[in-house]
Amino acid sequence: MNPDRILILHDGYYDTQLEDLIDNRTEVKTLAETLANLGCLVDQMAFDPHEAHALADRIKSWQPALIFNLVETIDGSGQLAHLACSFLQLLGIPYTGSDAWSMQTTVNKLVTKRILAGARLPTPAWLEPDGEGEFNPGLRYLIKPVFEDGSVAIDRNSLVWCTDAAQLQEKIKARSAETGYLCFAEQFIDGREFNVSLLGETGEPVVLPLAEMEFLGFSESGMATVLNYDAKWTEGSFEYEHIQRTFQPRPGDGTLRDELVRIAKSCWKLFGLRGYARVDFRVDDTGQPAVIEINTNPCLEPDNGISAAASQVGIDFSALISRIAAEAGVSLQQQSYGNKLSVYQDTTANWQDQLTSRLTNPTDLVPCPGQENVQALAEACAVAAVYPMAVTPYYANLAQPDNPSCPIRRQYVPDPAELEHAQDEVDDPLEEERYSPVPGLIHRYPDRVLLQVSLECAVYCRHCSRKRKVGRSSERMTMTTIYQGIAYIRAHPEVRDVLLSGGDPLMLSDDRLAQILTEIRTISHVEVIRIGTRMPVVLPQRITPELVKILQSAKPLWLNTQFNHPREFTFASESALARLADAGIPLGNQTVLLKGINDSPVVMRSLLHHLVKNRVRPYYLYHCDFVRGVGHFRTTIRAGLRLMQQFQGHTSGFAVPSYIIDLPHGGGKVALLASHLALNPENGRIEVENFEGTCYVLDLDR
Ligand SMILES: *Cc1c(COP(=O)(O)O)cnc(C)c1O
Ligand code: SF4
Repeated sequence: MNPDRILILHDGYYDTQLEDLIDNRTEVKTLAETLANLGCLVDQMAFDPHEAHALADRIKSWQPALIFNLVETIDGSGQLAHLACSFLQLLGIPYTGSDAWSMQTTVNKLVTKRILAGARLPTPAWLEPDGEGEFNPGLRYLIKPVFEDGSVAIDRNSLVWCTDAAQLQEKIKARSAETGYLCFAEQFIDGREFNVSLLGETGEPVVLPLAEMEFLGFSESGMATVLNYDAKWTEGSFEYEHIQRTFQPRPGDGTLRDELVRIAKSCWKLFGLRGYARVDFRVDDTGQPAVIEINTNPCLEPDNGISAAASQVGIDFSALISRIAAEAGVSLQQQSYGNKLSVYQDTTANWQDQLTSRLTNPTDLVPCPGQENVQALAEACAVAAVYPMAVTPYYANLAQPDNPSCPIRRQYVPDPAELEHAQDEVDDPLEEERYSPVPGLIHRYPDRVLLQVSLECAVYCRHCSRKRKVGRSSERMTMTTIYQGIAYIRAHPEVRDVLLSGGDPLMLSDDRLAQILTEIRTISHVEVIRIGTRMPVVLPQRITPELVKILQSAKPLWLNTQFNHPREFTFASESALARLADAGIPLGNQTVLLKGINDSPVVMRSLLHHLVKNRVRPYYLYHCDFVRGVGHFRTTIRAGLRLMQQFQGHTSGFAVPSYIIDLPHGGGKVALLASHLALNPENGRIEVENFEGTCYVLDLDR
């Protein structure tokens, strides 16, 4: 278990107009930020019972120490919310708030009322849809949903007056049909309304200051004092403007307050509540209180409900969150690195925010055991001065906090080994500059060109073959040079395949990219466009629906990405891939074979299978180029071929990439086959022929 990893489980996303559901998303965002500021690493996932199996696997592989359960609705209704609790219970990871039984009994108001009545705790009389219950002639009834809270489906028509039980039952039926929620009728108490918030302290309920909802000017305007949907959510409505929360006790309330506290505490025990809860009351004009609702896991938002009550006694939002976590058995100590990495993985966060909050200096990173000393930091800074560093908070978050050789971490943390190099390593072994007729365009193969449209990337991979160029302010692509490249393509009818590369082409704005794609599409001899991008891996938020539309309209367009490790598959990256695949964009992957990261058969097999499961075809597996600064990542060719031997024939053909070496001295790409090993070459050398028929000698053990 990772003590600093917290998962927020929340409602599924679907189209909704209901404010109380939209509210869940704001709640998640605020909580994520608060936890991040407490020094936690935070991830968030939606609970969908249909996907429970996959979700359980994903959670187990991330190993959070605690799960914040913010699930209030499933498929838009509160009726099944307890399933999330049951799921968490089975998972065996500590989770916040109440258990499934408490959730189920309090979400169903009819069950709540029966239990309350059985325990002789006051609750208004009620009539159930099937006629069970009590009808008191001459009194008004409020028709409300059995399962929903947040005043859903309560409006000015909810309050009715009937002559007999049969008539009321008819109205309940009509109202259920009209709203789509199963309803019942509760005797209306025309009086005061109180919200009593409770906070667990080693299992016992602590009652926070009582909040009264004051109905201002209601009687003057002949309105019934009902806290309806508009009152909660419709800004500008009379109800919204005229209901006010106060913590100010009225003189003479002493006995009433004692009684509210006593009943609220009894509810906590009776329903087995845990962590935090809220009990809502109405009080009639004789001062008799009655429980109208019990909220397990009420909304957690600053300045609202329970947090407003807590702040009355000096418990601020983050202290409140810590207490709720403590009740689940997990203490959220402020981490030693403070909020250096005050980031969280928000699948909905916009990509520009992720880019602006990139970590660009080794001192921004959370030190790993063994790397916290000043010497190591100074060395990393020296490396970053030669080869720039940048990592998105999202990607940094995927790293294992305690593992200096974490496969994710090694891809972005500058390593002193980058400054060492062997004699056969050069800055530009592919001699791209030699094949560059105009700046940024490489024409190495007869029918296709590579066009660099940006020299920036979201994350600077330490193993990058173009590390001589990327991320330097001295090296920038301008629209003018890009247009020169496009003019070259226009003048060369043999070019039928244009590969947009970089850097990362998706660092461009949507507008720029659309402009470039449209321009290339005006060239009739260009058949296919390809984009090489690492965004699905390092910044999946970049794959917005708008971007997908732009890519889709440039079809046929193929997108190749670069997953190097199975850990890079997350809810966010898988969703990004799904958006692309659903739009009919063919997806390929080019992995770089990296020593200690993905050169084991187990890791590589998992990577390949993750790719095909996500509709991505493993295209190439690159032998690390003979580029300066990446030597420490390179395996031998023999090791690469042995690895390939484990897959060719052993798994689905389309899950096996071609093993490619980009020949030194600009020889171009050549596929190496496991059968090369069987040649049993003398003194470990093999001869390969490139597409032009030129022979190259390769040392298998180099
Ligand atoms: C890799 C590469 C290509 C594309 O090669 P494919 O084998 O077709 O994927 C094109 N141009 C250059 C300069 C390249 O390095
Ligand atoms: S995304 Fe590609 S170009 Fe950018 S640093 Fe990584 S490997 Fe290099």
